[in-house]
Amino acid sequence: MSYLYSINNFALIIAAKLNLVFYLILLSSSVMAQNQTQHQIVIAHRGASGYLPEHTMESKSMAHAMGADYVEQDLVLTKDNVPVVMHDIYLDDVTDVAQIYPDRSREDGRYYIIDFTLQEVLRLSVNERINIKTQQLEFPNRFPRGKSLFRLHTFENEIELIQGLNQSSGKQVGIYPEIKNPAFHKKHGKDISKIVLDILKKYGYHQKTDRCILQCFDAAELKRIRFDLKSDLFLTQLMEFPDGISDLKDYAHYADAVGPPISQLIVSSYKIQGKTYSDLITEAHKLKLKVHPYTLRTEELKGFSNFDALLEFCFDTLNIDGAFTDFPDKTANFLRR
Ligand code: CA
Repeated sequence: MSYLYSINNFALIIAAKLNLVFYLILLSSSVMAQNQTQHQIVIAHRGASGYLPEHTMESKSMAHAMGADYVEQDLVLTKDNVPVVMHDIYLDDVTDVAQIYPDRSREDGRYYIIDFTLQEVLRLSVNERINIKTQQLEFPNRFPRGKSLFRLHTFENEIELIQGLNQSSGKQVGIYPEIKNPAFHKKHGKDISKIVLDILKKYGYHQKTDRCILQCFDAAELKRIRFDLKSDLFLTQLMEFPDGISDLKDYAHYADAVGPPISQLIVSSYKIQGKTYSDLITEAHKLKLKVHPYTLRTEELKGFSNFDALLEFCFDTLNIDGAFTDFPDKTANFLRR
């Protein structure tokens, strides 16, 4: 009797231990799953643009070294159809084009990159961004204007820089290219998306698992990229006010992520159909869309007392999946805390 009792007891203890082990395995796998879904990425907005003139190779190298997961490229075409990394279709707010080619502006006074060949564009020097109306620096405390020497570069130059740095550092930093103004390019007889996709393919980026995320504001163009140009890349639909929750279902048909402006997520007084903008994240997640808002910078604290408080609100409270930031070091340090 006592022998049987102890056998039973022993069996119970073993069963309890096995249960505990099983429970621990379950717990650790659920923590792992949570960590994977909670992985939040740092996207270096125009490089480490808080420290160096935007979209220069120097700013991209710095972002790579600072721990960015992805480095962003805005893409526009030259007259001879070469994608150059630049934020706008205009050259005059970030280069000395007005001094080098004084008679090449259009009637509106602006200098369009599409009117210049790559050779011509490469002669220009790049400066900190100015506001074209006031002629004042957009961010006066950043890199001083007119100091040192920076140049524009092609998309291929930059891919080779990132891939080269990945090899020499052992990191796996991704690229996050944006097709700028496809309608403007089309009006000039240029298919920028097709040109960009061909370059991406050439450098080994063609499916969702590759370290490349392609973004665009133009929903019709992003749809075309997915369905007509048959791209399998991870796609981000950029959003602008008043795009909102009601648009997410449509985006989810072809995109993998959305990129709303950060102020849309923060200003909870904005209401659409009775829902605040922060609900946009919950709704996006229900539709399996990641949320990568733009842009975190120390000069725009959105009412928070310091940059870390803004980061904490975005990453911890709102639960965003990543963010575009001018300060990849501060953002990466925050996430590594
Ligand atoms: Ca951009």
